[in-house]
Amino acid sequence: MTKRIALYPGTFDPMTLGHLDIMKRASNLCDKLVVGVAINRSKGPLFALDERVEMVEHVVKPFRDRIEVEVKPFEGLLIHFVESVGASMIVRGLRAVSDFEYEFQMAGMNDRLNPDIETVFLMADPQYQTIASRLVKEIARLGGDVSQFVTPEVELRLKDKYS
Ligand code: ADP
Repeated sequence: MTKRIALYPGTFDPMTLGHLDIMKRASNLCDKLVVGVAINRSKGPLFALDERVEMVEHVVKPFRDRIEVEVKPFEGLLIHFVESVGASMIVRGLRAVSDFEYEFQMAGMNDRLNPDIETVFLMADPQYQTIASRLVKEIARLGGDVSQFVTPEVELRLKDKYS
């Protein structure tokens, strides 16, 4: 049987418990999960690419008991990256209605570019649904407590950045 490979792309600036919840759910749907960390220079990320890769690497360790996991940086057209890793599905997380318009368009365009690749939308557990990296950074910058939104490891990294 062919191996089912899923790609979960994102900026992960930084990785949150929302991302982690989506990764866990995605890991139940495939034999191999590739987490694509977007280089995304235009977004001016707070964390360097290697730091964002490390944060993801740190949380995916336990998944490796069950499935194959790869964490890979990428840039350029998403569909080219999907093809290069041999994935048959793109996993995206849906939070509120606000994500829908953009995700709807992206899934539609990607389907036109390669109809063999399916975009799969997952919802995080309600307790994680409102978490957004942008707001986590804002709270951390202003000295707030982000412990319910990120892992202890990411919390330390945020403290470091803003100290
Ligand atoms: P991007 O720059 O691609 O939006 P992000 O790192 O912000 O990258 O998000 C990657 C994916 O994870 C997106 O599909 C986003 O909607 C999803 N995501 C982020 N936070 C959450 C959350 N709290 N619940 C569900 N999905 C989420």
